[in-house]
Amino acid sequence: MSSLDKALQSALDDRRAAGLYRSRAVVESPQTVQLTQSGASLLSFCSNDYLGLANHPSIAQRMKNAIEEFGVGSGASHLVNGHFAEHHALEEELAAFVGRPRALLFSTGYMANMGVINALVSRSDEVFEDRLNHASLLDGGLLSQAKFTRFKHNDAEDLRRLLAKSTAKRKLIVVDGIFSMDGDLANLPELAAVAKEFDAWLMVDDAHGLGCFGDGGKGTLEHFGMSLDEVPVLVGTLGKAFGTFGAFVAGSETLIESLIQFARTYIYTTALPPSVAAATRESLNIVNTDQDRRTRLNKAIKHFKDACVEKGIQLMPSPSAIQPIVIGDADKAVAVSEALRQSGFWVSAIRPPTVPAGTARLRVTLSSEHHNTQIDALVAAIAEALHAHE
Ligand SMILES: *Cc1c(COP(=O)(O)O)cnc(C)c1O
Repeated sequence: MSSLDKALQSALDDRRAAGLYRSRAVVESPQTVQLTQSGASLLSFCSNDYLGLANHPSIAQRMKNAIEEFGVGSGASHLVNGHFAEHHALEEELAAFVGRPRALLFSTGYMANMGVINALVSRSDEVFEDRLNHASLLDGGLLSQAKFTRFKHNDAEDLRRLLAKSTAKRKLIVVDGIFSMDGDLANLPELAAVAKEFDAWLMVDDAHGLGCFGDGGKGTLEHFGMSLDEVPVLVGTLGKAFGTFGAFVAGSETLIESLIQFARTYIYTTALPPSVAAATRESLNIVNTDQDRRTRLNKAIKHFKDACVEKGIQLMPSPSAIQPIVIGDADKAVAVSEALRQSGFWVSAIRPPTVPAGTARLRVTLSSEHHNTQIDALVAAIAEALHAHE
């Protein structure tokens, strides 16, 4: 064994012994609620494709048309010659959708979060993050060289206490709009009030809210009626409810121009293929106009929650498409997930370090494309698997 492999192997062994080893499952069909994995047909309840757009025919057609017109690669970063008409039009349409002066496309949500936080704060500043924030937000804060402070989950009072002690020049508060592993909503009105009190800036990553929350699908900011003043930095991702790929930041003219100058993950990376931007323009059009998908999603969420109550399955206080069932022990969570797979359902087990120790869980996600009979079958299978693994 090489020195490199020897050094790495012990950490792999430790991870396996702890029941935390991760591996990939290979999908052999389109991303829909019924998909094929290793030859088996499974009913999927773990995708972030909340509105069933990842395999939507008109979006796929737009991508094909754009490939005919623009080819496959963007060839360079946005600041060299990789910024195509499709990217530009999508930015304008996204800005109009969320009601902000400007929007800027990033290649992924991970990069958007890293880039924005690092462009906004540095040494002598302080970043305040909810302790359950998405890894990309935590990493962005850690990399920024600003003082990094976590506050208790969704606790505006804890945040106020920490802000009161801060002597930092710039203060940036960062939260998920919908927390990705708990599915609950950030308490944005309270957080915004605290931000205002201390002249801090509030940044919301609405990866799981956009497309799903608010009457118009404009996310948690629409849900709470939050203004640009209250939340000057909004991040959205395009690989979840929008069904394609990429991310964007929306805010003032000055914010976006600053990101173009200073966000390193924007500057030093190849632009998304223009066909992805073209496809996303079509998904934005659907998200914007097809209210029925949101209605169906909300019905699916309600049906799942009601069915769980009926079977005595304990849920978390989540109003979103993310419905975790906390199991606690990591091995047990994996065993329950495996039992569900044997019954034809794909529900992922989420273990530490993605979630805090002792809170391994099944992370059920609902889609507008799930039917009530499918949801009933899932809930019956969960009840049975939980019972078998008591
Ligand atoms: C998925 C996710 C991201 C990352 O977005 P990608 O485009 O997949 O890189 C960022 N923030 C949150 C809250 C997410 O759930």
